Amino acid sequence: MNYLAGIGMTSQRTRVRMVDRLREQGIKSPLVLDAMANVPRHLFLEEGLQHRAYEDTPLPIGEGQTISSPFIVAQSCELACQGKPMEIVLEIGCGCGYQAAVLGRLAKKVVSLERIAKLVGKARHTLREMRINNVLIKNVDGSLGYPAGAPYDAIVVAAAMPYIPDELKAQLKPGGRLVAPVGRGDVQAMMVVEARPNGYFEREIEAVRFVPLLPGVA
Ligand code: SAH
Repeated sequence: MNYLAGIGMTSQRTRVRMVDRLREQGIKSPLVLDAMANVPRHLFLEEGLQHRAYEDTPLPIGEGQTISSPFIVAQSCELACQGKPMEIVLEIGCGCGYQAAVLGRLAKKVVSLERIAKLVGKARHTLREMRINNVLIKNVDGSLGYPAGAPYDAIVVAAAMPYIPDELKAQLKPGGRLVAPVGRGDVQAMMVVEARPNGYFEREIEAVRFVPLLPGVA
């Protein structure tokens, strides 16, 4: 058996263990657990870090940015999808493209925004290699979303916002959800906003640590 096949088998096993751990940590949605079991997280990391891909920790992806921990990815996907498959989802902060690939198994189409051109190039390459073709990555400042693709079943924000702009809420479908880390300091609150007939209903989930949302394209 060759070297790559060996890695493939190891990662399949470690991915199953990761999913068991996510279940213990409280992730319930079979859709989300299945998506996490089927996206090879190690392929989004540089070789030297691949052996740590299935640990429950954020890891560096270059340009001073990080891939969120498996739990954070699973939790935000679960909060976003409400247990059912989605049509179209917006992600703000594509990074290496890992969460976009997971969302791509929960929705027919994903639009993912990333301000750093180098990360956009890498993420597009990784997704192409994996034959994932329902994720559209745009090299734009996503602070105010992407109205051209709206309305969305869900909007998942992967960088800390000082507050949730009304322009972003307006891009949700009725019943749709926005999931975002909100706060100005090192620690933020994971917030869920649901578009209800009588207004936007907000609730706080827990304290989280994300890299900040930054203005402009780099
Ligand atoms: N979901 C990613 C996590 C990436 S970390 C993953 O699975 O790897 C957050 C990302 O948000 C970083 O890559 C950062 O460059 C990006 N980001 C920060 N501010 C942004 C903005 N205004 N618009 C788009 N992307 C932004």
